[in-house]
Amino acid sequence: MTYQSTLEFAQQMDQNDLLKDYRDQFYFPQHNGKDSLYFCGNSLGLQPKGIQAALQYELDHWKTHGVEGHFKGDMPWMYYHRFLQEQTASIVGAKKEEVVVMNTLTTNLHLLMVSFYRPTNKRYKIIMEGGAFPSDQYAMESQVKFHGFDPTTAVIEVTPRQGEEHLHTEDILATIEAHSDEVALVLFSGVNYYTGQWFDMKSITEKGHEVGAQVGFDLAHAAGNVPVQLHDWNVDFAVWCSYKYLNSGPGGPSGVFVHERHGNNPDLPRFAGWWGHDESERFQMKKGFIPMQGAAGWQLSNVPILSCAAHKVSLDLFAEVGMDALRSKSLLLTNYFEYLIQELNKKGHQFNIITPSTPADRGAQISILTDENGKALFDYLSENGVVIDWREPNVIRLAAVPMYNSFEDVYQLALLLEQFIK
Ligand SMILES: *Cc1c(COP(=O)(O)O)cnc(C)c1O
Repeated sequence: MTYQSTLEFAQQMDQNDLLKDYRDQFYFPQHNGKDSLYFCGNSLGLQPKGIQAALQYELDHWKTHGVEGHFKGDMPWMYYHRFLQEQTASIVGAKKEEVVVMNTLTTNLHLLMVSFYRPTNKRYKIIMEGGAFPSDQYAMESQVKFHGFDPTTAVIEVTPRQGEEHLHTEDILATIEAHSDEVALVLFSGVNYYTGQWFDMKSITEKGHEVGAQVGFDLAHAAGNVPVQLHDWNVDFAVWCSYKYLNSGPGGPSGVFVHERHGNNPDLPRFAGWWGHDESERFQMKKGFIPMQGAAGWQLSNVPILSCAAHKVSLDLFAEVGMDALRSKSLLLTNYFEYLIQELNKKGHQFNIITPSTPADRGAQISILTDENGKALFDYLSENGVVIDWREPNVIRLAAVPMYNSFEDVYQLALLLEQFIK
């Protein structure tokens, strides 16, 4: 694809975009009476217009049926987790039974570590990326301490080489290898929240298994962003949230993947609750936990229907579009954005992109490391209707989201960048 930095070119790309109509299914925050340039879908996805009706449907169901809503209607609450499984599975490359929606992300990370981080005196280390999202760092630190180990020796972080921003796969694999029979768990994000690097999940999983460790991923920035194949890559478990690329609203529910070889093992230790108990006996209130097959056997509580109803609207859009079509557009959009920035740099400006330049190593997000004018740039963009986010110490993160962003959005953003530096 040969790109051009003209409005006409961007508009032509939009005309040819097979997904262009999906933009209308979302509410854009307004700025001076116009849609803002929203590049923050990596942090909080926009609201699908269909959510209001879906929530009203459940409110009416409750109003009409009261407690019997659990068993009545097209989508009885008792079985609600099932209505989310198929779409969820297609987003992360899983079998239907390997996924379930429940709780929130960090909660699920802990719950799955109960099953997949069971350290012994010999094998107790966790390998993770340096600079992981703080919640993940805290989860690792507290789990390690909970088991009586010292985080300074038990948590091994892989950090970039001197003067570099992202990780080389060979360095990740070498670190796993170096600690081999002491590694209990390899836990990486799919896409790093700060740099936007998409890790080589398949190779990491293979290497982790080779040394006898379990391998899990936090897909907060990967789910709905990049096409992953959790089942085929043999990943042991994964967790993600639904409010970033998955557009399900603030604090939306989390998704969980447990590979079928574990999901159908009732002897695997776990923390249990009634909603993970064999569905046919759930209301017999008997002693003795018998897990449901698959990821559903990790459920604790009954389903938060209102947040899951919102989630379902968004999941249905993903099912309709499909990750392949989203990824195709995402590559074009993000590459176009990178191209426009490089054009500005050719004119003597220095926007330092710290996201990998190889498209296969990134998703929609582009992170720009700013200089001393960074805060001023951020403020200028905000005043001009651009919604982006700032991560300390000095990184601006932008994601052109294929579900609702246009090529013209990206063009207009580059224009503002140019105006700022003039
Ligand atoms: C967004 C994000 C979280 C947030 O966790 P919650 O439990 O949903 O608040 C955790 N980890 C990563 C990697 C994230 O990107």
